[in-house]
Amino acid sequence: MFDIVVIGGGASGMAAAIEAAERGCRVCIAEKMDRVGKKLLATGNGRCNLSNRDLGRCHFHGSVAALLPQMSAAADGKTVEAFWRHIGIDYIELEKGKLYPRSLQASAALNALRRRLAQLNVTIKTETTISEIRKAKGGFSLKAGADMLSAQAVILCAGGRAYPKLGAAGEGARLAETLNMKVQNLRPALCRLNLDFPYLKRLAGIKISVPAALYENNRKLGDDAGDVLFTATGVSGPPILNLSRQAGEVLARRGTPQLVLDLVPEMEKEALTRYLRQRFRRLEGWTLAEALEGFLPMKVAEVTLLLAGLNAKQSAAVSEDELQRLAAVMKAWTAPVSGLAGWQEAQITVGGVHVSEVTERLESRRCRGIFLAGEVLDIDGDCGGYNLQWAVGSGVWAARGAAEWIKVKHVKRNNSK
Ligand SMILES: Cc1cc2nc3c(=O)[nH]c(=O)nc-3n(C[C@H](O)[C@H](O)[C@H](O)COP(=O)(O)OP(=O)(O)OC[C@H]3O[C@@H](n4cnc5c(N)ncnc54)[C@H](O)[C@@H]3O)c2cc1C
Repeated sequence: MFDIVVIGGGASGMAAAIEAAERGCRVCIAEKMDRVGKKLLATGNGRCNLSNRDLGRCHFHGSVAALLPQMSAAADGKTVEAFWRHIGIDYIELEKGKLYPRSLQASAALNALRRRLAQLNVTIKTETTISEIRKAKGGFSLKAGADMLSAQAVILCAGGRAYPKLGAAGEGARLAETLNMKVQNLRPALCRLNLDFPYLKRLAGIKISVPAALYENNRKLGDDAGDVLFTATGVSGPPILNLSRQAGEVLARRGTPQLVLDLVPEMEKEALTRYLRQRFRRLEGWTLAEALEGFLPMKVAEVTLLLAGLNAKQSAAVSEDELQRLAAVMKAWTAPVSGLAGWQEAQITVGGVHVSEVTERLESRRCRGIFLAGEVLDIDGDCGGYNLQWAVGSGVWAARGAAEWIKVKHVKRNNSK
């Protein structure tokens, strides 16, 4: 019998296993894939954005309010930084406070985790899917294909449902449901948005760096700025990924979110109208599309003119009303969001085991001895290192709880002898 079986060898599971083994527990990781940490290797475009300097609560979402004290501990930057440093990974800070391994290699982070797991004699059983957790004498018995594993405590780190080809495909939530835990509906997030926009094929492949906002019925739901990349079906890029969470929320209740891009953030609408008037006077004799080349990427300019109904115009022929209309389109390029790219491409899962199901040590309130960490819980973070911060922080925190639980059990058993 192991002291602890960790279900899932992702970031949260490996962190939990290391922390528990450092505390003297005999630990086994059961991982359904042929290797642990497959998703970690793909994070941050292979550079692995581990955390962020700004760990404000506003960057974490889900049933987070139910977990306020635990969040402070599990999302604590110092603990997680110390965890990584202990296994040889120092941070380097890049844009917007994002923290990466100094070598900028996700493989370095994974290798460090695997080396430490080996040093601590953690048993790793790959190609081992846990399909059932049962209470048994002295702890739990876990169904792993034709085999059974037994442990005094379990840490459920089976992730969410996003990016299933790298492992997790919703099994964690299903296992939790079999234990009667309340699970919030799962939705994909941090993914591309599909747009209902007629000119996408023309724009596919173009990248612009602009502020982007999401609206529903003229109410702003969120905004962000950065590179927006057009695809044949919609848009991608960091600000879009961050807005996908709210877009998914609106779509789930059958609303219509609107994506609004500001193509000329450095000018207010009036200043932009003045600027365009002067520009078109100066470039008299050119078509409007020619006169806008150099101000906007050509294809973006062409589509903007189509949206303003001005595509066939010469610069000299543009009226005052038309100038106003063009400036308005440039300041608020609007397209209805028709859907999200979906689970295959989503980086994270919104929803999961409701956080009211766990104690402040991340232990299940219904099944004492089962701890939960990472994406299986209904906590998700913004793009920028928040999800790995939560995965590792909650893994460490749950492992401390599990190790403590086992210790208390032993003391009770010895006292009753
Ligand atoms: C392409 C991509 C890029 C990303 N980039 C970043 C980034 O740069 N920064 C950031 O903060 N976040 C990033 N994320 C999100 C982040 O990777 C996840 O939030 C985090 O890895 C979740 O960790 P986890 O351990 O909870 O779950 P996972 O990493 O999903 O691990 C769960 C593990 O459990 C295993 N498993 C599932 N069910 C069972 C079962 N029944 N039995 C046995 N094993 C099971 C799975 O195979 C998997 O290995 C990215 C995600 C993706 C997909």
